Amino acid sequence: MSSIKIALVGIGKIAIDQHLPALAHNADFELVALVSRSIAEQQEILERYPQARPFHDMDELLASGIAVDAVSLCVPPTVRYSLAVQALEAGLDVLLEKPPGRGVAEVESLRKIAEKQQRTLFASWHSRHAEQVENARVWLADKTPRAMTIEWREDVRFWHPEQEWVWEAGGMGVFDPAINAFSIATLLLPEGFYFTEAQLDIPGNRQQPIAATLKGALSGTHGGSVEVTLDWQKTGDPLWQIDITTDQGVMTLEEGGAHLVIDGKRADGSASPGEYPGLYQHFAELVKRNVLDVDARPLTLVADALMMGNRREVAEFHW
Ligand code: NAP
Repeated sequence: MSSIKIALVGIGKIAIDQHLPALAHNADFELVALVSRSIAEQQEILERYPQARPFHDMDELLASGIAVDAVSLCVPPTVRYSLAVQALEAGLDVLLEKPPGRGVAEVESLRKIAEKQQRTLFASWHSRHAEQVENARVWLADKTPRAMTIEWREDVRFWHPEQEWVWEAGGMGVFDPAINAFSIATLLLPEGFYFTEAQLDIPGNRQQPIAATLKGALSGTHGGSVEVTLDWQKTGDPLWQIDITTDQGVMTLEEGGAHLVIDGKRADGSASPGEYPGLYQHFAELVKRNVLDVDARPLTLVADALMMGNRREVAEFHW
């Protein structure tokens, strides 16, 4: 198969930091277009990728008539649905950055449209491709989980500098990073888990939580406890850690899945290619096989937490 001609849509932090380098090192893809309202002002990017044609929006891209097979949507989740529908209906394959939508039902709607159009739809979860996640999944496969704790603490000012959308309705606040933890945990625990209580700390001048604590249980009548602590104001190194206690030891995934620890000892196995290289390898396979990969479980967990959460007003947040 010849390379997949891909357009990147929403040229912001993650497109520049991760998608463009990952595409540049993947021979399965040919970057043919950069689509963003501010693209005309992004001279440095345009000079770095001279083979990619710039477009202001999806309408311009589709009207241009250039050959394109797929789009990768890196815009915020609140504006992703209509772009995905437009692309699918134009016969393109679609990769959605996480979270795949602003709500669960619209992701299901996209799946149906992709099936009808017989196009690939990939609701991507970059953290699932972190170096040691697959090794953790294999280690856990023949064990019985008894309890899980998740700690996900990072600095919103570093990871989302001046991005107002994260605080607006649909932006999800601290659940924007937390969904990465949920994407790993749902992969590691195929039986699943659920929340029963949520405490949401919401700055007085914002719509979305800056911190949260969640309690829940592993699936099943004897399901052990699940405890989640989320914090978006930790400066310095982030703490992205998942601990799962099993009948045969304790597994810890550190640094967002970069390292595996079993019973307190480093147990890294052979590493995956890494988050975004792995994500695009997987997308290429899906496109070649013309199949979908749409798993909305992480988003469902966020929806549940926001639905059942006790809301507490905390100090205003200013950049
Ligand atoms: P960002 O820097 O704000 O970039 C998103 C881009 O989308 C903007 O630069 C903007 O470019 C375009 N856009 C189109 N409509 C928009 C709207 N209504 N509001 C705001 N921007 C709009 O955000 P990001 O950090 O790249 O995040 C994008 C997605 O990647 C999110 O879903 C996020 O969860 C995910 N992600 C982010 C990170 C991270 O560390 N930041 C990591 C992994 C995944 P134009 O103005 O030029 O159209």
